[in-house]
Amino acid sequence: MFEGIRALWRGSLGRCPHCGYGRIFRSFFELVEGCAQCGRRYEGTGDQSTGAMGISLTVTTLIGFIGAVLVVLWLPNQLGWGVTALLTTLSGFQALAYRVSRGMWIGLLWITGAMDEDEHRDEFYR
Ligand SMILES: [Zn+2]
Repeated sequence: MFEGIRALWRGSLGRCPHCGYGRIFRSFFELVEGCAQCGRRYEGTGDQSTGAMGISLTVTTLIGFIGAVLVVLWLPNQLGWGVTALLTTLSGFQALAYRVSRGMWIGLLWITGAMDEDEHRDEFYR
């Protein structure tokens, strides 16, 4: 269990969930194919962005719900401004949360063993 939490943590920081040294991202949103340190491919079975979007949308929706309740309770006479500020904040948060979510999803792939289901793993980093 501790290894799973460590894999999620490493992934959320943009590091390889297996060794913790290799980088997951080439740029802010662009993934590298695999770890330059240990040679593990991150998404050997294809693009896995759907799971990351699920994590990101779930967290953003929960924060949006809490924010909406707070806006209604604290700013009942300024709902237009409150909703505008909330949507602007959530849009920015969504962009940042996607990167963390993508890393966490790769950590989940490592936990479930899906990273090992790569038929081309031996061809990587020859
Ligand atoms: Zn690695």
